[in-house]
Amino acid sequence: MLIERIDDARLPASSEPCALHIAAGRVQAIARAAGPAQPAGSCLRAHGALVLPALVDAHVHLDKAFLLGAAEAQGPLEPRLASAIERVAMLRKSVGFERIRDDAVRAVQRLVGHGVGAARAHVELDPSTGLSLVELELELARELAPRIELQLVAFPQRGLEAPGMRELMQSALERGVGVVGGCPYVDRDPASHLDFVFAQAARRAAPLDLHLDFSDDPGRSLLELVLERTRAHGLAGRVTLGHVTTLAAMAPDARARALDALARAGIALVLLPATDLFLAGHGDPGSRSLAPFAQARAAGVRVALANNNLENPFAPFGNGNLIMAAWLTGITQRIATPEGRRALLEAITTVPAHILDLPAHGPELGALAHLALVSSQRLDQVVLEVPPVLATLHGGVLVHRLDGLGATNGVPPINVA
Ligand SMILES: [Zn+2]
Repeated sequence: MLIERIDDARLPASSEPCALHIAAGRVQAIARAAGPAQPAGSCLRAHGALVLPALVDAHVHLDKAFLLGAAEAQGPLEPRLASAIERVAMLRKSVGFERIRDDAVRAVQRLVGHGVGAARAHVELDPSTGLSLVELELELARELAPRIELQLVAFPQRGLEAPGMRELMQSALERGVGVVGGCPYVDRDPASHLDFVFAQAARRAAPLDLHLDFSDDPGRSLLELVLERTRAHGLAGRVTLGHVTTLAAMAPDARARALDALARAGIALVLLPATDLFLAGHGDPGSRSLAPFAQARAAGVRVALANNNLENPFAPFGNGNLIMAAWLTGITQRIATPEGRRALLEAITTVPAHILDLPAHGPELGALAHLALVSSQRLDQVVLEVPPVLATLHGGVLVHRLDGLGATNGVPPINVA
């Protein structure tokens, strides 16, 4: 349903309720009070709900969502990265293509229900699956475009050393996958892996998004190699790193130097709390394996928080709820100020939008009407309350609405109570 006006909405910058007028997919006007009546069904009554920019998931895997039951049926899971990779690789042989497709669609529905309007999805490339998941996700991205923008990444989960993998990466990029991915830590020669993916990104003028440093051992860090290549290829502002849990384990001096170097190289970080806290941090009791959010931001690094996985061996507790990912980060990193809580919210909205290089969206004049409505009173309360998302709009189209109490006069209400 196309929404032309949202009445009785609250905007982050204003304490007064207002009406948002939407046309041609964008916010065209913001008025203090409701305007003249619109045709039935085109007006959403927000009952004072807070309007946020739609959330952005900077890192998610749709093609292995909801595999937890199948994985557990094969025996107890060990909460370690190598075990998760092995278990999912094993399931690739038995889980049918139709099921992967259905679960990917279900994952997108889950994201949209949690207010997500855009996501960067890593598409698994492996000799056993060839380009089949690429074809599947290119088709899904086209089919689901009216509900969510999906940005696809060519992702070699088991490295680039198996015969044919480099050709497979090139084919995926030629088929229309727009972002070069990488997973250098699974290869015997991570430098060669990095050389290849950096060369691909530079040659195609494509962004590069790497899984990196998913380890408790700073001695295994590949950050130096990434920094060198980012500078050499002139890719400042185009490189994003997921995980980097080594930052949590580094000595304070080394961590400060690494964050400073990332900021100067224009490299963005994406933390994946539901995975990073579950699979890593096997060192000293009390160690926290999530890279330091506030410190990275303070150093000038763009930091996003993302889902990574939904209910699978990489994130059994992954539920697609980005606000909860921010809540979890706030607790485990002891973020204790309203500014810190607003920063957590930015890390699931505006910061990932910038990392994905998306056009402006949100409740602002002229911006794309990709919106998420929540019942919280203030921005800094959102990550405390983890409120359900009452409605998600994509280009002004209502793509999710929490069940209201019934329609009045053709107008769909939002049940805020
Ligand atoms: Zn990932």
